[in-house]
Amino acid sequence: MDCIFCKMVEGEIPTNVVYENDKVFAFRDINPQAPQHILVIPRNHIPTLNDISDSDADVLAEIPLAIKAIAKEQGFDEAGFRVVANCNADGGQTVFHVHFHLLAGRSLSWPPG
Ligand code: AMP
Ligand code: ZN
Repeated sequence: MDCIFCKMVEGEIPTNVVYENDKVFAFRDINPQAPQHILVIPRNHIPTLNDISDSDADVLAEIPLAIKAIAKEQGFDEAGFRVVANCNADGGQTVFHVHFHLLAGRSLSWPPG
């Protein structure tokens, strides 16, 4: 399988890791859209949010806990942050391994484009 995020999880390509545990992996986005832009992903390969199943419930439940820990560690928990998950073409998804963008460090406008 040719998935760039799986390669990062496996340590096959250089990655700026900010957090990891047995189920979740998080690293800095290569093209940051905010002063802090971190991608939080399940270690296991799931292409899109359309593909999640009951067996993914455990890992997906860990994602908000990882986000909470990262926000505190990185010091933007109190100022605030945004979590975004893009799905397929209309969502603007470009990497097909489920990921949650964690954006912080500036005031973010709403609604998104
Ligand atoms: P999306 O458009 O929601 O699928 O987001 C994919 C994200 O992955 C984009 O924000 C890219 O900048 C980011 N990205 C792609 N390749 C890498 C990489 N090698 N290291 C870190 N982030 C990456
Ligand atoms: Zn993958």
